[in-house]
Amino acid sequence: MNTPYYLIDKARLLQNLERIAYVRKYSGSKALLALKCFATWSVFEFMRPYMDGTTSSSLNEVKLGRTRFGGETHAYSVAWADHEIEEALGHADKVIFNSISQLNRFRDRTGGIDCGLRINPGVSSSTFDLADPVRPFSRLGEGDIGRIEAVLDRINGFMIHNNCENEDFDQFSRMLDEIEERFGEHLGYVDWVSLGGGIHFTANGYPRDALCDRLRAFSERFGVQVYLEPGEATVTGSTTLEVSVVDTLFNGRHLAVVDASIEAHMLDLIIYREEADVLPNTGPHEYMICGKSCLAGDVFGTFRFEAPLKIGDRISIQDAAGYTMVKKNWFNGLAMPSIGVREIDGSTKTIREFDYTDYETSLS
Ligand SMILES: *Cc1c(COP(=O)(O)O)cnc(C)c1O
Repeated sequence: MNTPYYLIDKARLLQNLERIAYVRKYSGSKALLALKCFATWSVFEFMRPYMDGTTSSSLNEVKLGRTRFGGETHAYSVAWADHEIEEALGHADKVIFNSISQLNRFRDRTGGIDCGLRINPGVSSSTFDLADPVRPFSRLGEGDIGRIEAVLDRINGFMIHNNCENEDFDQFSRMLDEIEERFGEHLGYVDWVSLGGGIHFTANGYPRDALCDRLRAFSERFGVQVYLEPGEATVTGSTTLEVSVVDTLFNGRHLAVVDASIEAHMLDLIIYREEADVLPNTGPHEYMICGKSCLAGDVFGTFRFEAPLKIGDRISIQDAAGYTMVKKNWFNGLAMPSIGVREIDGSTKTIREFDYTDYETSLS
């Protein structure tokens, strides 16, 4: 397979999936894949036995979840348009409204489908304003207790999403304490509560048994079915972006240009001002690994290598699944990375290649 390509390693994915299945089993919670994080549907069949279904953030995602993953399909959107709602309901088992105005606008059209409301609990684990659902003037979910109380008879579930790659179980649990205290009366009225994504419970060393106990206690106290919506936790560490060196330069530092770009193929590195991960990142030769778009700051990061880099050398950029493939774009008309899968037996196969026609038809 020519580089660049994303490589999904099923054995590494399986480790996360087994941890998700463990938490499902011992907490009684259901787990839905958050499609906005990862939507590479060729591996959905592999993932399906370990999860209950999907949750979404748009009509397209609801359709993808229903048709490609199956199982329980939740339809959430920050705001449904009038012309979308019918079709979304046609694919959904539950619809979750982001605001009371959306709930009131569409409630009569939901028929027998479960209706939920997103609550904004006013506490979050996020430290990055851009991704903080409880930032000032947030549009994400209702926070006013009185207004929520007034629509309790129109809903049978709540969704609360206020964690972000949170590896700190104690912090998660403390925030859940606050939620219980603030919304306790209302939580008892509904049948189900989704606690959203952002709990990094598939990480090595995460106290999964404590999480299971905490979720079970929450579920029993309020008599609700708990849902989790893991995105990043599902695919973390499972996928690499495989690139090749296409040029080397020296400009006060050793530079190596590779055949991919952070702007086009790992956009979150720019958005969150992070460096990529390259392993093992040891050895005497240090290089700044640069993307091949014309953006001056298109830099994966600075890493160490055992030998001087030369043209054609291969580099694996780690953690290229979550919020990565779903955000790839055609900036600079760069070659779009293919998608490959490493099977459990170690063999690798290409599942998708992109060509000039894909680039041309992405606009018109
Ligand atoms: C983004 C999001 C998720 C997934 O979050 P991760 O951090 O990827 O686990 C789940 N639920 C909702 C409502 C979201 O917005």
